[in-house]
Order: sequence, then structure tokens, then C-alpha cells
Amino acid sequence: MSDQKNEKEGRTQHGLSRKQIILMLWQALKDAGISGIEFEGPEIAVYVSNPKYILENEKIVSNLAKTIRKRIVVRSKKRLSPEEARKFILQVIPREAGVTPEDIQFDDVLGEAKVLVQYPDKIGMNLRRLQNLVLGETGWRIQIIKKPLLKSEILERIIGHYLEKPKERRKALRSIGERVFRDMIIGTRHVRVIGFGSFGEVGRSAILVDTGESKILLDAGASPSGSGPDAYPMFHAPEFRVEDLDAVVVTHAHLDHVGMLPLLFKYGYRGPVYMTEPTRDIAILVLKDYIELMRREGRDPPYTLKDVETMLNYTITVPYNTVTDVAPDTKLTFSNAGHILGSAVAHLHIGQGLYNILYTGDIKYYRIKGDKSTRLLPPAAYQFHRIEAIIIESTYGATETQSREEAEKELIEMVNKIYKRGGKLLVPVMAVGRGQEILAVLNRAYKEGKIPPVKIYVDGMVYEVTAIYTAYMNLLAKPIREAIERGENPFISDITIYVRDSDKRQEAIYSSEPAIILATSGMMQGGPILEYFKALAEDPKNALVFVSYQAPGTLGRRIVEGEREIMFEENGVLKPVRVKLEVKRIEGFTGHATRSELLMYLRHLRPKPRTIILNHGEYPALTSLGLAIKRSWERLGYKTPPEILIPENLESIRLYPRYYKKNISLLYH
Ligand SMILES: [Zn+2]
Ligand SMILES: [Zn+2]
Repeated sequence: MSDQKNEKEGRTQHGLSRKQIILMLWQALKDAGISGIEFEGPEIAVYVSNPKYILENEKIVSNLAKTIRKRIVVRSKKRLSPEEARKFILQVIPREAGVTPEDIQFDDVLGEAKVLVQYPDKIGMNLRRLQNLVLGETGWRIQIIKKPLLKSEILERIIGHYLEKPKERRKALRSIGERVFRDMIIGTRHVRVIGFGSFGEVGRSAILVDTGESKILLDAGASPSGSGPDAYPMFHAPEFRVEDLDAVVVTHAHLDHVGMLPLLFKYGYRGPVYMTEPTRDIAILVLKDYIELMRREGRDPPYTLKDVETMLNYTITVPYNTVTDVAPDTKLTFSNAGHILGSAVAHLHIGQGLYNILYTGDIKYYRIKGDKSTRLLPPAAYQFHRIEAIIIESTYGATETQSREEAEKELIEMVNKIYKRGGKLLVPVMAVGRGQEILAVLNRAYKEGKIPPVKIYVDGMVYEVTAIYTAYMNLLAKPIREAIERGENPFISDITIYVRDSDKRQEAIYSSEPAIILATSGMMQGGPILEYFKALAEDPKNALVFVSYQAPGTLGRRIVEGEREIMFEENGVLKPVRVKLEVKRIEGFTGHATRSELLMYLRHLRPKPRTIILNHGEYPALTSLGLAIKRSWERLGYKTPPEILIPENLESIRLYPRYYKKNISLLYH
């Protein structure tokens, strides 16, 4: 009843209309000299002429935020010039903290300044106090960021982009704000989920959540093996209209989750894209690389850099465990997914608690017991307020993979073996995730004397992404973070060689010394790995080691499955390459939860979702995992059997309201 009443009066789901919210803010903060209230992205920005008043009356703002249940930021209309503000900031931060004038960058749209600090613990003052002091004196809100260990061009370029185009960014934020904080039109009527990709397959993740009031797209990925429209999610479906989308939520920066984001902008989407900050940084890098790679291979990329830039203007970064309004009836919370840096499980709270969906994206979940010093990220979060349905990945749902410990041992043995026979060890890695994991493992093995001082060539984007990893060290697992704090670099040492040009690539291939070569792409669908492979495949002294999932149809999968003659086109002529090098699979490094980890995750998950939807897996993996859940629901902590669904792409699953079904529906394909 109350819902219906709210709808009639055009209220938001919290019972307050926009007008009421604005009125409350005006009244409560009038002494601060309000000059404007703007809906900027997911936040309400209050512009004041007297920021000191706000600092002295912090409670008023936090109470207001609680009452209206929205994020409020106070911005100062009066700000010192960047030069004056920079001077002040350098005065209050002690010299030992290692901040240079270039380390302070100003974002005029948000009234924020980013301060890169080498030694944040040397600031000698509570961060909040420092922030308040600077805001009160200069009008700028500062953000303290630890300087990355490695220089990252992409981070500098992203900050540069926002600084250069403040008008576009402001326009984007305002239009997003207007849409998020619009009053409800028809209210939450139902909850439907439709997969446009990643159901019954690994790749092109794209899932629509439709509530009647709003439409939210979870991920917009590309398929690793498909080409042309087969690589895209099924955006041709009648349920999908770019102009109806309220928001896009992105779980992590792998191509199968972000690859087609810019395509939405090419088709005219001008709404928000929510992701964590590291996901944004890595995504920009990955998407640029995707375009360049296609061009180099003579293929037409589906979008251009301009579309990537437009996307950047509409990107809103959200930290873990922060509730954000993404539509009038939907709130989003990201939590750590443990899969790659910045990866998140997305929790959607729909219609004032009517329904809650947890979408895992890709997850890694492991026990914290034992030596975990080479694990880069903590395992996925598993405790939530409410969950009615979970959409969970099932990449390794069919068979148990070896343990991480065994995998490390095997890799180290392999390095020693190749070293002794004077060969080259070729490891195709994804630039994001596996690349850093393998670097960390090899680096540690070298320091502990477990492998000889063999040169490690790192080719492709791996190095740039590693720089981004070191920029977000607070998100890394404790042992790695502690190593960085001690001044060590867990990824790079004196045997690591960064391959930037073809000279170095030639050295890696033709030098007489043994070597390890890490190169992209991870499934051998392009990238520098192919050049190495063609040159090294016919010598049995060498070896090719796969350390991650290989999708059907990719060159990696074909070699794993035994293909021993690969045809490559060179100047219009097909030439065979015979695979004589040793081929090996070491699966224990996977960034995905193994079968037992998936079951353990469901066992630990609180509370228990009534509906379990399996996706992101090939059918044998999906059905095998589904059957395992069906057989062991009691052991997983359920009192009654959960509903297990294995939908196909384009199937519409109605989650709310629905009749309670006693039997388990488990579909077979
Ligand atoms: Zn992934
Ligand atoms: Zn994935």
C-alpha cells in the first residue's frame, strides 16, 4: 500500500521527493551560505561560501545524509587559485612525506585535489584533520594517494583527461545526477534477469536487470574467441535498448567483462558506468590495447578511442563497501571479489529491500590458512545483509584443479628443467591478473634461491598493469602490501627485463641463454606471444606453459587439445608452424574459484540465497556444479533445497514476485 501511495506522490523510494530533499538541505545548512545544490552523479553536491561552518558543524551534514539516505558532498564556491592552494598544501605536509609541487593536481569540476605522497605515514597528522584544514583554508578538498612504485603513464593520462576536459565531465555528472535522483515513475514492479552473453559460455558477459522502474546492465564484455558480431553480447535482442538503460555496472577489467563498454557509447548511451577506481584504470589500458591490436592485425575495431574517452567522462568510481544509488529504486554495493585488482562482486538492493541480487562477476575464494605470501589479493567477500538470488560464475565448475602450492612447485621445477637444457620457457599470460601473479611467484622463488638467475622477459601490457597494481597497494593482500611498505618490489627484480621494442624481443628469442618469456595474450588470440611462439615452437628444448583458462576456439585451447601443426598467414601465404616444444598446463594459478572453492563459497555465503543462477561456464561445468549443489545443499547450510537455474542467453528469468516452487528446477542441456 505505502508503495502505491509513494508512487502517486512521485516520491523516491525513501519517501522523500527531490523537492523535499532540496528544501531540507537549504534549511539545515543556510548558515553555511548555500549558493547551489546540484545532483552530480550519485552524490548531492552542496556549494557553500563558508566551508568553515561545515567543518565546525560536521554532525549536521552526517545526520542529514542519514535522514535522506544519500551521499552529500560539500564543495566550496570560493577557492584559492591552484598555485596558492599548492603552496599551502606543501606548507602543511612535512617535507619527509615526499611530495613535490607536480604531485598535487587540481580537478576544477569537483573542487578536488589529488596529492601523491611517497610516504603517507610521514604526514604526521590524522588524514581527516589534514583534509579539513586544507578545505577550510583553501576551499579545495584533497585526496591523499600513495605514489606507485612504478611510473604509470595511463594513470597520469587519466588524471590529465579529467583536468583537460572539465566541461564535458561536469555535463556528464549533472545529467547522471538528474537521472539517478529522478522521482519514481511506475515503481518496482518485478525483477527480471536476461543474459545477453556469459550464460552457457565464458565470454561477452552482459546481464540485464529490469525492475519495471529501471534497467541496469551488469558488465558489457567481448568474447575471447568470436569475431565480428559473434564477439558482442546479444544487444540486438528487443529487450535491449540503449536509451532505456539507467546504469551500467562493471565488475572487473577483463575484456570478457568490459570489452564492449565503448560500443554502448558509440550507440548513443550517455548514462553512468559504475566501477572501482583500479577497474577504471585497467579498463582504459585494456580497451586501448584492444583497439590497437585489432588495427595492427588489419581488422576493424568495433569502436574508436573517442568512444573510450566518452565512456571515461561517464564513469563513476565507487570504492568497496559503499552504498550508491544507481537508479531511483536500486542501490549498488561493490565488495572485493579476489579475482584481479579492483574486481568486485556487485550487490543490488532493489525497491527498498524488495529483492537483493548478488552478481559475483569472476571470483577467487581460498582458505586463509597456510603460507599465502604469493597471493596478491584477499579472497572474495561472503557476508551480506540480504541476498535472494546469486548469479555465480562457474568457469571451473566441472573438475577440481590442482592446488596453488602444487602449481607453484610445478612452475619452479619447469623453470629449472628448461634452464638445464638451455631452452626458453614461454608463458602466455593475460596482462591483468595472471601476469602479476606469475611475476610475484618467480620473483620470490628467485629471492629464495629456488630458481637460477634466469632472465625474465615481460612483454605486452603486463608491465603497465603491474604499475597500476603498485598504485593501489592498500587493496593488495597483507604480505604483498607489507613487502611494498618495506620498500621491496614484489614483482620486479634485477632479472626482470621489460620488453618495449622489437630489439629486446629479438634478444629474448635469439640470445643463446635460457630465458622465461611472459607475453600477452593469455589465450594466444593475438599479441606478442604469437611472434615468440612462431620463432620458438619448433625447438623441443623450449616449452610452452599455460597458466590460465583457455576458451574453446582460441589458439591456446587448440594447442592444449593436441593440435601440433598451426597454420599462420604471412604476406598472404599460409605457412605451417610445427609444435615441437614441450606443452604443459599448470592450472593451479587460476584467478577463478576452483570447483571446491565455488562450493566452499556457497557454504560460507551469508545469508543463503533462495535462487542460485549459474553462468560464466561451459555447459559441462555448469551442469556438474549444479548437480553438486543439488546433491549437497544440506552441507552447504541450506534448510530446504535452493532453486538452481542454468539459463541460456536471452532467457528471461522472473525473480520477483514469483510463486514458491518446492521442487528444484535443474535444467539439462
Ligand atoms: Zn575475469
Ligand atoms: Zn570472466
